[in-house]
Amino acid sequence: MTDNPHARYFSPDYDTARSRFLQAAETAGATVERAFHPHATGPGGIDLSMDMAVLGAADASSALVMISGTHGPEGYCGSGVQTGMLASGMAGELAAHHRIVLIHAHNPYGFAWDTRFNEDNIDLNRNYLPDFTAPLPANPSYDAIAAAAAPASRDPDALEAAEMALLTYARDHGFGALQQALTGGQYTHPQGVYFGGTAPSWSNLTIQRLFSAGLEGIERLACIDMHTGLGPFGVGEIICEAAPGSAHFTRAVAAFGDDICSTKDGTSVSAELQGTLDTALLALAGSRWSAVIALEFGTVDPMSVFRATQASSWLHVHGDRNGPDARDIRQASRDAFYPQDPAWTQAVWDRATSLMAAAGRHLAA
Ligand SMILES: [Zn+2]
Repeated sequence: MTDNPHARYFSPDYDTARSRFLQAAETAGATVERAFHPHATGPGGIDLSMDMAVLGAADASSALVMISGTHGPEGYCGSGVQTGMLASGMAGELAAHHRIVLIHAHNPYGFAWDTRFNEDNIDLNRNYLPDFTAPLPANPSYDAIAAAAAPASRDPDALEAAEMALLTYARDHGFGALQQALTGGQYTHPQGVYFGGTAPSWSNLTIQRLFSAGLEGIERLACIDMHTGLGPFGVGEIICEAAPGSAHFTRAVAAFGDDICSTKDGTSVSAELQGTLDTALLALAGSRWSAVIALEFGTVDPMSVFRATQASSWLHVHGDRNGPDARDIRQASRDAFYPQDPAWTQAVWDRATSLMAAAGRHLAA
């Protein structure tokens, strides 16, 4: 076991993570704004909230933003970093030069129940289409494998047949094509995986409101949306949705360094996605100077991550989230997105905080 002085900032469940974040925010003297979910609840009936802590001078012109929990149990990672930044004094030091905006639990339902998707089985990072009244994006490749992507039965034979069908697709078209078909986003199978929804979710509307309020008066901003589940164990890949050479990619390099991958040219561990949060935040930033990235930390192998995603989605669509299967499914999902290993949380801490510091130096220059 690696000795990791930051391990105490990382929590074993959503309720603890939220309490630690709010406590650290209060101790650091941050202004806190809380948005309670109007109808969804967590295990044991606890309320759910998206919470924002803001530090720094009221007239700051630059801001550093970090968002956690877009994908449920991926929130353990970002929450640990946010809480640690507040509790260690790092956020306070950065706040001498910038406004610090920390948005905790973008998807509190998924965080609390250990499922990547939200209370309506929506993948929030596919839910930011600019206009839901326009025809929704088609994904015929997903349609072709929909039954295998999210089988309605957890019977072992059904699961094995579904996995064989996906592997056959990969054999015929390549693993990259399978990843794109499955995870690129789909808007036609509400009980499937990586479903983008048919309207803006509560989380979508709420984070846009908090983000806009948190950035009032700001002229320059850098934002990290924290993710886990893709790539090698503990490696934090910076993902930019803009193509290399574009204005936004160039700003992201200026803020975070040139070790950046793009979903537009195949260099990223991520497929090219529809309706992402980053796109919406860039639009909200408008004419301000902005760099918005996802930071993706690898955990375990892709099939384990996919099986955990599929199972936790099944539990919420077809199963009983308080039933006998729930404990194992939730634990497997947590393990897939949040390796509770001090070496992993240390790598997360080092990478995420060094990027926040780098962006802070750029914005101060
Ligand atoms: Zn994610």
